[in-house]
Amino acid sequence: MRKITVWLYLFIVALSLCAAPSARAETSAPAAVRGILDLSSWHWEQDGLVSLNGEWEWYWSRLLTPAELAAGAGSDVLSYTKVPQVWQGQTYQGSKLSGDGYATYRLVIRTADADTGKDVALYMPSVATAYKLWIDGKEAAASGTVGTNRETMTPANVPKPVFFHLSGDRTEIVIQLSNFVQRKGGLWEPIRMGSADAVTFRRELSNALELLIVGSLFTMGLYHLGLFMARRKDRASLYFGCLCLAIGLRTAVTGQTLAARFAPGLPWEWQTHLEYLSVSLGVLMFVLYVAARYPVEMRPGLRRPIIAVLLMYSCFIAITPAWIYTHSMLAFQIAILAIFAYIGCVFVLAFLRKREGAFLNLLAMSVFFVTALNDTLFYNQVLSTGDSVQFGMMFYVLMQAVDLSHRFSKSFAHVEKLSSELQRWNESLEGKVRERTEALEMTNASLHEANRELVKMEQSRRHLLSNISHELGTPLTLIQGYIKAVLDQVDEPNRDRYLQLSYDKTLILNRIIGDLFELSKFEAGKIRFDCQFVHPVPFIRALYEKYEWTVKQDGYSFEFIDLTSGLPDGQDEEAVAWIDVVRIEQVFVNLLFNARKFTPTDGTIQISVDRVEHSDHGQSAIRVSVQDTGFGIDEEDLPFVFDRFYRGKNSRKNRSAGTGLGLAICKEIMEHHGGTIGVNSRVGSGSTFFFTLPLSNDPLNPFVEGAFREEGPKE
Ligand code: ADP
Repeated sequence: MRKITVWLYLFIVALSLCAAPSARAETSAPAAVRGILDLSSWHWEQDGLVSLNGEWEWYWSRLLTPAELAAGAGSDVLSYTKVPQVWQGQTYQGSKLSGDGYATYRLVIRTADADTGKDVALYMPSVATAYKLWIDGKEAAASGTVGTNRETMTPANVPKPVFFHLSGDRTEIVIQLSNFVQRKGGLWEPIRMGSADAVTFRRELSNALELLIVGSLFTMGLYHLGLFMARRKDRASLYFGCLCLAIGLRTAVTGQTLAARFAPGLPWEWQTHLEYLSVSLGVLMFVLYVAARYPVEMRPGLRRPIIAVLLMYSCFIAITPAWIYTHSMLAFQIAILAIFAYIGCVFVLAFLRKREGAFLNLLAMSVFFVTALNDTLFYNQVLSTGDSVQFGMMFYVLMQAVDLSHRFSKSFAHVEKLSSELQRWNESLEGKVRERTEALEMTNASLHEANRELVKMEQSRRHLLSNISHELGTPLTLIQGYIKAVLDQVDEPNRDRYLQLSYDKTLILNRIIGDLFELSKFEAGKIRFDCQFVHPVPFIRALYEKYEWTVKQDGYSFEFIDLTSGLPDGQDEEAVAWIDVVRIEQVFVNLLFNARKFTPTDGTIQISVDRVEHSDHGQSAIRVSVQDTGFGIDEEDLPFVFDRFYRGKNSRKNRSAGTGLGLAICKEIMEHHGGTIGVNSRVGSGSTFFFTLPLSNDPLNPFVEGAFREEGPKE
């Protein structure tokens, strides 16, 4: 932003440097002395335009023609006056003049002999407020009608070039001038003279500059009004648009050509109204604009009276004639300076408080202030620089355009940031919704699972209860029957047998109750495991040897096969398992006795150990298999063999064979060891029951979960 400002500054400095040569030429031009201006050494081609400044012959309160002057008329009132200068404030014959009055000006210009016949021109500026011009005795131009009072004169203000030939080395210029319609009277702007080409060029340059400035101001004004229409909230745009239009209008009216060209019939009174109103309303718009931009810095306590004064003054200009309101201009200009000083303070405050665009405003304001000050001094004849407020305004408008584009780009950047944030939010929101939905689904699934589990548990509880009542009820009914038979002496010779049968049934009942009791303690976590590190293969081999004789005694072929590699008997110190040897023996015996129970006596029972992968983390385990060549198990029964009270057909035929709780207890024990238990079987070719003992390489860091379940005293 500051970079742009620096560039603009450089641009303005460059412009001023370009304008400097002509200014130098004019300042070094000769001045008229006692009505004679010597331009004999003026080089019309190189030196450009010359201002006809200096002492002119002055005939106050006389309207004389060149012929009358030549005849000696007016010699009684001849005096000399400075040009450019207004009448008011000048002393004539001891009394101070006001702006009203009429007079005749005369100047003789001396030129070099060589310049005779040259095409030259006068550039007649704005003259207050009617004049008639003679060059070498010939009427050359007029603006309005010169008169001796307000009624007889008609004001007009049309700056224009007046072309003529240098007919000799002496040129006489006579101007009649009158003013009764506004505060200023007299030749108050310099009359410039130069070659016809130079004057034409100067006029074209003025036209172009004026068109550029007025066009730019009008465009900016309409653009800001358009912005306001699109966004009614932004009142600053409305005021700024009106301000641009007001200054544009003033430039068009006070300028050299535009008003005269495009509205030639516009009466002087109207033109002057527009000129003054555009200033008062322009200042009003500026105050409103600053108030809208910096409402906190511009206090309402001061803002309101300023606005009221400006409104009232605008009305005063609108309803009174020029000869009244123009007299108040000095006071108004002082008021404007005071208002600008206050607005300057507002900008400084806004800048210190780091308000948006305050730096630019302050900078533009300072340039504008300098140009406004210049104009005030120029129009009061303190300076002879010329109009410049329109340039200041142009600069201000440019700064506003920069500020506006900055504000817009900032807004766009903000909107972009917001939308990308929104998009991110949306995405993350989508992700979150997805996550939550998944979590909800999972919760639903787990709830569903839990529900199913509960239903299953409930079913199994009912099942268990009916099983228990059945399992306990059947032997009890039998015992009841046997004892009744003994008591009734129905079958006296078999009395002992009935008693024996009853006794056997009580043993079964006792076993069932014992097993159930043990199972419920497992499930409740009431059984304490007394674990230790054990080399599993030698341990299983020892168990095999322990029961070898008993099994073989019954006629079975009983074998032990070691399929482990790298685990020589008792040698591999690192391959150990954390187990409760008593409980593992219980599992082993259960599987072994089941095999014996469901295998004909000439069958084979084989104990084998091998090494398997226990988990995905590469943990190993020793798998102990008990294989028989017995009846096998039906495929549909296989999933239930580890359920409580499950007994296969063969077992059911022989009611004394088992409780159906053994494998359920084995399963509990293996789960507590972190191991698994399973079965492969086919009817007719036997069954293989197996369980795994996870291995640990670090005896100090056992991984078997069950080893730490020390929830209760060991039973
Ligand atoms: P039980 O005390 O009745 O043997 P288990 O829980 O030990 O109870 O066994 C449950 C059932 O599994 C048995 O009734 C039997 O039908 C079946 N079973 C167990 N081991 C074998 C095997 N080696 N061969 C065939 N069936 C078996």
